[in-house]
Amino acid sequence: MGWHEVLGHGAQIDRFRRNLKSGRLASAFLFIGPEGIGKQFFARKLTQALFCEEHSEYECEPCSHCPSCQQVMTGTHPDLHFVELLAGTAEIRTAQIVGGAVKINDKEENFPGVCYEVNLKPISAKRKVVIINDADSLNDTSTANLLKTLEEPPPGAVIILLGTSLSQQLDTIISRCQVISFNSLLPEHVQQILLQQRVVNDSNQALELAMISNGSVELARRYLDSELLETRSELLNLLATLPQHPEKLSAMILKLVDVKSLSRPEKMEQLEFLTSIVVSCLHQVLLQLSGQSPTGDPLLQEIGRRIVDDWSGDVETCLACIDRTLETSFHARANANVKTLIDAWVDDLSQIWIHGGFKLPT
Ligand SMILES: [Zn+2]
Repeated sequence: MGWHEVLGHGAQIDRFRRNLKSGRLASAFLFIGPEGIGKQFFARKLTQALFCEEHSEYECEPCSHCPSCQQVMTGTHPDLHFVELLAGTAEIRTAQIVGGAVKINDKEENFPGVCYEVNLKPISAKRKVVIINDADSLNDTSTANLLKTLEEPPPGAVIILLGTSLSQQLDTIISRCQVISFNSLLPEHVQQILLQQRVVNDSNQALELAMISNGSVELARRYLDSELLETRSELLNLLATLPQHPEKLSAMILKLVDVKSLSRPEKMEQLEFLTSIVVSCLHQVLLQLSGQSPTGDPLLQEIGRRIVDDWSGDVETCLACIDRTLETSFHARANANVKTLIDAWVDDLSQIWIHGGFKLPT
């Protein structure tokens, strides 16, 4: 019942408990944290706490079973308006924010627009709540319109934007929202969620998935596909031989990303997935270089050790490699050519790696 279903975000729950108890709730929030750690689930739990028929919002204790709480979770509550990327699109369509028609698979769908909906009188709750998932993918027109609503929010309305990083948000959005940071989940929390949601039944398998997924339940789910585990292992092994064979690493990544049947957003998602594996390995190298105990699964630790054994640079070199890899995800969103993007990334990575501490201009 209630908040106990939310694992690993206790400080954030306490914060909202205090806000609601004192009757001071902001009108706009920006939840920031990695993908797949439960930000959306948290936003829905908060909405339940505001809409619950069993408990007043001052109690901030959703019952989870009254009709309102259930409607919030199933997405059918008339006062909760939810926006997310439509399948196969790279940005939130302006119509989803301001209203209008969008063509989806040759069928036209009409959206009233959340900026309009949030201004309507609540139907069964005391307020309107808007959750904008994938807020990293708002375009300029959507952002400009949303800013007007954030500047003059309708009385009682609560708007929650969910994003992965502050660097993806405009200062104008950040300054109008209360920013709440969410951290990655601990492996034991991911393990517990995987068992609770019956993603797997075996607790050892759940722990193994949790260890390799960097605190993301979403990633753990994806790893259940055994091909992905093989891909991860192959990628990590090629990463260990990067200075000798950069061409092998870029060829493997290109083969996995530049697949004809994938749409551009799907290609970018695949590339981000692969870069996240590289970053997790480089973090491992960083830990070992700075004398801290390794934290990942056995394969990651072993590859980390192999890399550190031949490492000619220092901690700064490793940080530069991490920065360069993170930049790749960023450039991917700017419509760069996939092959050029991957070749440039792997080439720069091997150069930084070999020449120790040398940071290439970006
Ligand atoms: Zn309830």
